[in-house]
Amino acid sequence: MTTNATSVADNIARIQQQLQQAATTAKRNPHSVRLIAVSKTKPTALIEQAYQAGQRDFGENYVQEGVDKVQQLAELTDICWHFIGPLQSNKTKDVAAHFDWVQSIDRLKIARRLSDQRSPELPPLQVLIQVNIDDETTKSGVSEAELMPLAEAIDALPNLELRGLMAIPAPAANSGQPTSFAAMHGLFLKLQAQYKQVDTLSMGMSDDMVAAIEHGSTMVRIGTAIFGARSA
Ligand SMILES: *Cc1c(COP(=O)(O)O)cnc(C)c1O
Repeated sequence: MTTNATSVADNIARIQQQLQQAATTAKRNPHSVRLIAVSKTKPTALIEQAYQAGQRDFGENYVQEGVDKVQQLAELTDICWHFIGPLQSNKTKDVAAHFDWVQSIDRLKIARRLSDQRSPELPPLQVLIQVNIDDETTKSGVSEAELMPLAEAIDALPNLELRGLMAIPAPAANSGQPTSFAAMHGLFLKLQAQYKQVDTLSMGMSDDMVAAIEHGSTMVRIGTAIFGARSA
C-alpha cells in the first residue's frame, strides 16, 4: 500500500464504503459509524491529504507528537483530535489543552486531572473509558468490575463529558474478538441505560472493523488501512 495523496483519499473512500456496507448488513443506519483516522507516527502532510479528502477526526497516541501536530495544523480549525494512547498523569495538562476527546481513560486520577486542567472556556473534554475486555496484562483499561464505579465518578466531574467506552480486544487467535466485541456491547448498553449522553462504543481497527461493527461499534479507529504500515 502506497501513501501518495490519491491513495490516502482512495483508502478513506474505500473504508467509508466498507463501514456503510458493514452497518447495512448488521441492519444498522449506514452512517452510524464514525471513522477516526489514526495518524500516529505519520507526518502532517498525510493528515492534510486526509483532510482534503473530507476526513475530520484524527487519533494520536503520543502526547508530544500529538500536541505538535495539533499546533502545526491549527489552521484546520474543524479537525476533531482524539487522544487514544496510554496517558500518564504528568502529561494530562497538554492533553486537556489540545485535544477534543480522550478515549483511554482508565483511572480516576487521570480523569480528575483532565477535568481540573481543562479550561472552562473550552467545550467539555469528551471522554471514553477504556476497558481491558480480555484481561490482558499487557494492555491498559479497567476491568468489568471497575467500570460502573469509575463511570459514576467521571460523570460527576465538571469539565468532562462521559460519552462511552473504548476497547482493543485480543486477536481472535487468542480467543478475543467476537466474544470480546459482544461483551463490550453488553457493557455499553448497561452504561447507556444509566447515562443518557452515552452514545459511543469505540472498537474496531484496520483488521477487525467489520466484526466490530457487526457487534455494535459506533466508532472505528483506523491507521494502517488509511496511511499504510507504520515503521515505528
Ligand atoms: C494504532 C492504534 C489503532 C490503529 O491501528 P491499525 O491497526 O493501524 O488500524 C487503533 N487504536 C489504537 C488505540 C491504536 O493504538
